[in-house]
Parts: sequence; structure tokens; C-alpha cells
Amino acid sequence: MSLLENCTLCPRMCHINRFEHKGYCGGGDRARVALVSLHKWEEPVIAGKNGAGTVFFSGCSLKCIYCQNYEISHFNKGIEVSDERLGEIFYEQQLRGAETLDLVTPTHYIPQILNGIILAQKKGFSLPVVYNTSGYENISSLSLLSGVVDVFLPDLKYYSPELSREYSQAEDYFQIAAEAIKYMVELTGPSLEVNGILRKGVLVRHMVLPGARKDSMKLLEWLWNEFGDSIIISIMSQYTPYFAALEHPRLKRRLTTFEYDSVVDYARELGFTKCFIQDHSSAGKEYIPHWNGAGVEGMPR
Ligand code: SF4
Repeated sequence: MSLLENCTLCPRMCHINRFEHKGYCGGGDRARVALVSLHKWEEPVIAGKNGAGTVFFSGCSLKCIYCQNYEISHFNKGIEVSDERLGEIFYEQQLRGAETLDLVTPTHYIPQILNGIILAQKKGFSLPVVYNTSGYENISSLSLLSGVVDVFLPDLKYYSPELSREYSQAEDYFQIAAEAIKYMVELTGPSLEVNGILRKGVLVRHMVLPGARKDSMKLLEWLWNEFGDSIIISIMSQYTPYFAALEHPRLKRRLTTFEYDSVVDYARELGFTKCFIQDHSSAGKEYIPHWNGAGVEGMPR
């Protein structure tokens, strides 16, 4: 039986037949892609000089209420593609000079992605494959990626179950994401950088949220206790109120400099040395891509 006939790809465990219905994530039997682009604003070890070859998938299994990509994550904006076309898209990113293949929100399309990678490899595809995820992942699904994904780029969003329930309807987020990240580290082994590009390893992202800096600090403590300085982290300041967050009492404002700096200082106090940080000016609508479907149906310009 295909994995899509009784879908348990992510912790939502819908058990639905995706050839007939769409689950919580919005995914059916064919992958849906919102944008194919070269993205220069990922961390330098992912974007390099030319940019990361981003493939933004529509839908999401987490669906945070403040999502900056809500048009595609919540409203499923995008274009359905066959596995063959997905393989061509991956290969075309290499032809455009992308440094990595950056699969954004890929969880609900793992089977289609695996087929796409095999088809792309037949054409000569050889970029490092980056799995750019919310962190809300089943170990059984991650195990399918062994030997295919080179770099895991998970978010680690919340420690508190109250926050994860309120913002992402996932009370078990931390418990699930923590196990997922430990497994990702097991899959890739120690990180390896070649010519400034991460060729294998795990880079954990955390975006500091307004009013939640203590929660951020608990996550840093967990990461430090678990991995010490062997893990690469990225502390993001780019939070901008969007979507349902515009009406939310805590989320409707930007992050303050104090909130962000105190979390970064805490990471340094703990001893992290492989830590990417952002300028406060990285927050803003100009950093949100236009979801115009570029590159989905033909070779991107
Ligand atoms: S991937 Fe989608 S359909 Fe499958 S279990 Fe998760 S939310 Fe449900």
C-alpha cells in the first residue's frame, strides 16, 4: 500500500487516503509547489554565493497562526506537479547555479520528493539536499530520507506546550521536535562544510517570538545539554506580525531589540560558537517572496 493511501507521514496522523481526500496539511496525491527560486537570505552555509535553490511546497502540517507564508501554508496557493516535473524542477535548480536544493516545508510530500530526487539524479542532479522543516516530524518518515537528505534545517519553535497549542495547535510540539532533531543528528553524523557550504549536518533554527524570550532560553538550554557546541544554530529576529497574529494580544507587535539580544547573549553565555544571528532589520514584508508560481511549470528565468 502506498504511504499516501493511509497517511501517517506527520504527527497529525490523519490516516486518510490522499488519493481521495486532503488531510490537515492540505496535501493530496500530487505535490503542490508555490514557488521555485534562488534565495539569498538563507544562512550563508545554505545560500552560499549564488543562493539556495528553494522549492516552496504548498500546505503545511503545522500551520502556525503567525506564518509569514500563510498564503501558501494555510491557503494552499500553488500548482500541482507530477513527480516527473518535480524531478525536472530539482535539476533545473542545479542548472541555474543554486548552491543547494532547499526543500521548504517538505514533510507532507516526502514520497513525491523521493521519486523526484531519483528522477533528477538520472539527469545528473548532484546538489546537497536540504530538508527545511518546522521540526514537527515523525521518526518513521525521517528514516525514509536516510542517504537522500544531506542537511536537515529544522525549526525548534517552542518549549512550552501552552505556546505550541495556542500558536500551532500542537501541544506535543517540543517532545516531537526534540526527538526528531536527535534523530536527524544521528542520520547525518557530524557536520561537514566544504568551500563554505554545509555538505552534511543539522542546523537548528529558532525564531524569537514577542513575549517569549524565556521560552527561547529554555530551548537553548535543551540544545546545549543535548549537543553542546557540536550543533549549528541560527537565532532569527525576523518575526513580523501577519495573518491571525495581527489581532493577537502578544503577537501583534514586532520583537524588541532587548528581547532578541537577550536570547543571543544567553546563547553565547551557554557556550555556543556556531551560531548565526540576524540584523534586527531582517524583519519586514520585503523579505517575503511573491507567491507567483515562478519556475513551477517551466525553467525559472
Ligand atoms: S502529512 Fe498531511 S495528511 Fe498526512 S498525516 Fe500529516 S497532515 Fe495528515
